[in-house]
Amino acid sequence: MQIADKTHSAVNMIKTALERAKKYARYHIFTSLNEEAALKKAEEIDRKIKNGESVGHLAGVPYACKDNFLSPEGNTTASSKILESFASPITSTAVKKLEQEGAIMIGRTNMDSFAHGSSTENSYFGPTHNAKDFDRVAGGSSGGSAVAVSLDIVPFATGTDTGGSIRQPASFNGIYGFKPTYGTISRYGVVAMASSTDCVGFFAKTPDDINLLMEISNGQDSYDLTTLPDYYNNTEEKTTKKIGVIKDFDNDKVAPEIRTAMKTKLSQLSKKYEIVELDMPTLKYALAVYYIVVPAEISSNLSRHDGIRYGFRADDCHSLDDVYRQSRSLGFMPENKRRIMIGNFVLSSGFYDAYYLKAEKVRTLIIQEYEKAFKQCDYILTPVSPNPAFRLGEKTDDPVSMYLEDIMSVPLNLAGLPGLAIPAGETKDGLSLGLQLIGPRRSDKNLLEFSKELE
Ligand code: GLN
Repeated sequence: MQIADKTHSAVNMIKTALERAKKYARYHIFTSLNEEAALKKAEEIDRKIKNGESVGHLAGVPYACKDNFLSPEGNTTASSKILESFASPITSTAVKKLEQEGAIMIGRTNMDSFAHGSSTENSYFGPTHNAKDFDRVAGGSSGGSAVAVSLDIVPFATGTDTGGSIRQPASFNGIYGFKPTYGTISRYGVVAMASSTDCVGFFAKTPDDINLLMEISNGQDSYDLTTLPDYYNNTEEKTTKKIGVIKDFDNDKVAPEIRTAMKTKLSQLSKKYEIVELDMPTLKYALAVYYIVVPAEISSNLSRHDGIRYGFRADDCHSLDDVYRQSRSLGFMPENKRRIMIGNFVLSSGFYDAYYLKAEKVRTLIIQEYEKAFKQCDYILTPVSPNPAFRLGEKTDDPVSMYLEDIMSVPLNLAGLPGLAIPAGETKDGLSLGLQLIGPRRSDKNLLEFSKELE
């Protein structure tokens, strides 16, 4: 990642990024650009460099920020109507840390509204297009961020991953995408989706760049009580001996090109490492568990959008109930409403035990199954998703088929584990393929280092 110095001016770096962002406007990557403020920050960095003053580790580096991180740059819309005009009074910890090191946000990126989705088609502002094939989805929910990096508009972008929203769009656009161990980066100031699985992470073109971003942004934060005490920068090096593969993930529902990519990487790895086949029978319930637990948390987190405190408020309402009902009905996208309804259903008194409670129990079994697996191997390699990028519109009328695309990405979110999407070649039609490397909790730094073996 090039940082500003005596020969590379920050202003030029920002100008180039903005020009590229405009050149690719038809991909619909950004919800807003941040030209004036970005250039002003760049001028300040150039001035410091000229005067010999110290600058940060990301001085002048342009980045794209998923539109669910609160900060004063533009409105934080979460690609929704309900927050379309929301100007945040606070800055998320993640953005603050990046900006303290001199990184400059050039714009906010498009996403599925409130991060609900796997294609960025659920955005109130319309879908983002895939970097490799304009007629295909970018993946989601952090589709805009993935395409911004893939098309070299910026060297890195932020994302959030609740059930695959960094790894899946990374793999659909041929770049790296990292979801850290739950609690590694503060969620303070990030629009909440499902608080027990939400993670902040990054898109970039190399594991080293991601490592640098992790070194900067990890750490405990008194504003997010789920953050872990600093382990990332104190991680001891570990030698890797065994790579696990999950038996059930190799089946005829997975695209042949993805199965081939797995085989190629495994045969490459088998020269140096022992490959261990893992029997993980509980993982087949992970998708069902995810689509109970996550909507339950969504229904609770989204209750704050009531048309009273902030965001969109419907006109012409005649009672308080009417304000709530109409603001929410008009302000949320269909997928947001579907999840609120599922969440309320699984939490309602007659169904709580049968759905929510049972799902949380199975979640514990999934966590235990991973713990057992990591006694047999150091890392696990799996596909990110069963298929490469699908066509725009192909799954919009069939939410269940959209959910099924998440079958390989959600299990590790339930267990809080780190996962890295790694580029793994292309299909014969030029679509990107991706695999993911999964490690035990807090193995993040070693995992990123080890991933270089798969380049
Ligand atoms: N595709 C998953 C979902 O729709 C994951 C979303 C995410 O990670 N934000 O729930």
